[in-house]
Amino acid sequence: MNTFHPDHSRPVTRLVRGEAVSDGAGVKLNRVIGTQQVPDIDPFLMLDEFRSDVPGDYIAGFPEHPHRGFETVTYMLAGRMRHGDNHGHSGLMDAGSVQWMTAGRGIVHSEMPEQEDGLMAGFQLWINLPARDKMTAPRYQEFPAAAIPVVDAAPGVVVKLIAGELAGQRGPIAGVATQPLYQDISLAANTAFSASVPATHQAFIYVFEGGVNAGPESARHAVQKKQMAVLGNGDHLELQAGSEGARLLLIAGLPLREPVARYGPFVMNTQEEIHQAFADYRAGRF
Ligand code: FE
Repeated sequence: MNTFHPDHSRPVTRLVRGEAVSDGAGVKLNRVIGTQQVPDIDPFLMLDEFRSDVPGDYIAGFPEHPHRGFETVTYMLAGRMRHGDNHGHSGLMDAGSVQWMTAGRGIVHSEMPEQEDGLMAGFQLWINLPARDKMTAPRYQEFPAAAIPVVDAAPGVVVKLIAGELAGQRGPIAGVATQPLYQDISLAANTAFSASVPATHQAFIYVFEGGVNAGPESARHAVQKKQMAVLGNGDHLELQAGSEGARLLLIAGLPLREPVARYGPFVMNTQEEIHQAFADYRAGRF
C-alpha cells in the first residue's frame, strides 16, 4: 500500500480483531494489544477491553499482583472497581472515571469489581516508561467523570478528553513521558471528523460501538466494533461514521525505541532487570 499522502492524513496500516483471553482470577477480556499477533505498538504494551453483564465473567477480579516499569491506565465505562495497593493507596472507580497509575519501581495492588451483577465495561491500557523512569516512585492520577473535559469538537462529534489537547482544551493527565493522547470519541450517524494527532506519535483507534471508515479519502478502511486500526504517519486522522454512528478510542504516544524485556507484570529493558524485579518482589521491596 502506498502510505504517502501529501495532506499528511494518517492511513490505516493494519486492522486487528482482539483475542478472547482470561486474566486475573478468570476475568474475560478482549485483548487487542499484547497478543502474539500484536505484541506491542511502541509505547503501548497492552490494551484490554472488558465488557460483560454476566457476573461470572468479571466477579473474581484481579486479586493482589505486582507491576514494575510501566503505567496502567484504567478507563471505566460502566460498573465499579475497588483498587488498593501495598502503599496504602485505595479508592473506588466508577463509570466515566480514569486511573492513570505510574507503577515505576513497583506496586502490589488488587483491582476488584464492587458489584455482584450488572454491566461492567471499560479498558485497561499499559504504556511503557522510558528506561530513565522505570524505577521512579509510584504515582497515581485519578479523575472522576466530571473532571474530564467533554469537547463538542464538530457537529455530531463529542470527545471526552482524558489526555492531550483538543480545541484549546487539555485533558487532566499531566507529566507523562510519552506525551499521550487519549480521547473517547462519539460520532453521530454519518458524521465526519478530522482528528489531530501529533506527527511525532504512534497512534491507533479502537472502535467499541458502531463502525467508522478511517483514513484518507483515497484509501478508506472500514473499522467495525471490536476492531483496532493501527495508523501510519501523518498529523491527522479522517473519520466517517456509518449509519449507526460510532464510539471509539483514539490513542497516541511518543514511541520510546528502547529494548523491551517483558515478563508478565514486569516490563524492563534487560533480562537482568527482570530477574532483579522478581528478586525485589519476592523480598517485599515493592
Ligand atoms: Fe494491575
